[in-house]
Amino acid sequence: MSEIQTDVLVVGAGPSGLAVAAVLARYGVDFQVVDAKSGPVEQSRAALVHVRTLELLDRLDLAEAAVARGVKVNTVEIAERGRQAGSFPLVDREAAQTTPYPYALGLEQHQTEHLLAEHLTSWRRPVKWGVALEALTVRVEGARAVVRREDGVQDAITARWVVGADGARSRVRHALGIGLRGGTFGQTGLLADLDLELPHREELRPGTLRLNLTRGGFVGLFALPSGRYRLFGAVPPNLTTAQRGTQVSHEAYAEVTPPDLQRWLDEYFALDARIHHTTWTALYRIHSRCAEHFRTGDIFLVGDAAHLHSPAGGQGMNLGLGDGFNLGWKLALVATGQAHETLLDSYESERYPIARAVLRGSDRGFALETTPNPLARWLRANIGTRLITPLTRLRSVRAAIFKLFSQTWIRYPHSLVTANDKRHRGRPRPGDRAPFGHLDTAHGKASVFDLCGGTAHHLLFFHGPTPSPDLPSVRTAIQSLVSAYAIPIEVHDVSADQTGLHARYGVTAPSLFLIRPDGYISYIGTPDELQRLEAHLDHIYVRRQRGDPARPN
Ligand SMILES: Cc1cc2nc3c(=O)[nH]c(=O)nc-3n(C[C@H](O)[C@H](O)[C@H](O)COP(=O)(O)OP(=O)(O)OC[C@H]3O[C@@H](n4cnc5c(N)ncnc54)[C@H](O)[C@@H]3O)c2cc1C
Repeated sequence: MSEIQTDVLVVGAGPSGLAVAAVLARYGVDFQVVDAKSGPVEQSRAALVHVRTLELLDRLDLAEAAVARGVKVNTVEIAERGRQAGSFPLVDREAAQTTPYPYALGLEQHQTEHLLAEHLTSWRRPVKWGVALEALTVRVEGARAVVRREDGVQDAITARWVVGADGARSRVRHALGIGLRGGTFGQTGLLADLDLELPHREELRPGTLRLNLTRGGFVGLFALPSGRYRLFGAVPPNLTTAQRGTQVSHEAYAEVTPPDLQRWLDEYFALDARIHHTTWTALYRIHSRCAEHFRTGDIFLVGDAAHLHSPAGGQGMNLGLGDGFNLGWKLALVATGQAHETLLDSYESERYPIARAVLRGSDRGFALETTPNPLARWLRANIGTRLITPLTRLRSVRAAIFKLFSQTWIRYPHSLVTANDKRHRGRPRPGDRAPFGHLDTAHGKASVFDLCGGTAHHLLFFHGPTPSPDLPSVRTAIQSLVSAYAIPIEVHDVSADQTGLHARYGVTAPSLFLIRPDGYISYIGTPDELQRLEAHLDHIYVRRQRGDPARPN
């Protein structure tokens, strides 16, 4: 048995593990990523990538490639047992100003995984496929994992930190004895990628997702980049005679034959559509569960290993990718000696409440979509769905819908590494996602996201409508403070004439906004209280030693 030493072992190369690894690679961390499978997943599985995920992929320069491979979905139509009831835009004109990616991207999971895996290969840190974790023991000097290669040979990997990204039946979670609390829905999850013919009057406009509700179940439909349709939904158990698996996992336990699927569409959903060919079908059990902890000592859980969601809103994979990014940059900065361990404590304190909130939201959405209660269904069919179109004309309702599905609502105001400041009443506040906007630079107009991308921290120095008379010396003091830290912090001036960006950030006086490598604001203050910024930085980051070279971004 060979002995391998590494700083970080990532177990599992699904979307969540790939995200952690991709971020670690960018920071030059010494890590290994292993997966029991012989390559990325082949099925399409999760097929909607949301706004916040695209913004995070952009930080790895992968969003453009994802968008080129996917299809933009921006309208939802609701039908009640085949009868069109209403429609609404996922992203309206106002919301479109708040992100470079104003849509949900239809992209099959294998495409998302391929993008991330190719990215790792291009950084010369490829996934070790066909390597399964068999045992994990935690010791003072680091965790020791025993893995088995496809040829049966075992290796031992000693790692300072381990990331359990090994899915619903996580061996890492079991090794830590962490329970997965929650339950399993009575309905059966249904997925199919198919060639479908819709009658002329029923045709789906490109970029439209149709949700067809019925008693105790629903099916959704949208066009995939391949020209096929993705059908997803939940069907009552009595529709299928397939024996449901008993494992807590979203793995498919059976397929549906095309004649059965056609019968369900005709008789149960009243969906006027002819199936020509199915490329993939899956029936799976739908769970709503959350691990008791996302961290024990130096071992972390991300993605499905930490939480399992109903398919309502397609949030599961997106949440896992979000976990991966959140943990990735923190682990990287601690592993490379640039940040204190406090930063790692913030992973669970930030992501656990988010996972719980997404579970609550998707459970409510799922219950509404699948209610078998006749009265609730009557109310939904005769009042609820009829109100959709008028209600979604209200700006506040449209804004709420956008926030919910896009995951742009995610914020960390109470995080251990957010400098919460009760004096700050406006928006954005510390812990919020840094707002999108543009500013003029020496090289022309640039988006804040482009300017504040990459692996560095960024400090936006808003000069305010009335800049300080001693602006040059203030600027020098800021630069000298941030240069004292091991992490690169890039300072960007936002001059008084950049009124649009001042308004977007709610700035009325000279201000400083510190933006983390995942695009969240961790500190807001004024340039005349630099000692507050210094205390915040000292709390999280390590000071540069005399003679240390500045780190490249
Ligand atoms: C049939 C199906 C349909 C789905 N449909 C949707 C959908 O429509 N929308 C949605 O949002 N989500 C959907 N999901 C869920 C979505 O696929 C997951 O949320 C997402 O894949 C989670 O990513 P992950 O990386 O956390 O876990 P996974 O994708 O499960 O990846 C875990 C990885 O760990 C590896 N692994 C496991 N054990 C070991 C071990 N001992 N050693 C080494 N490697 C190991 C596995 O091989 C796997 O590659 C679906 C899932 C399934 C199975």
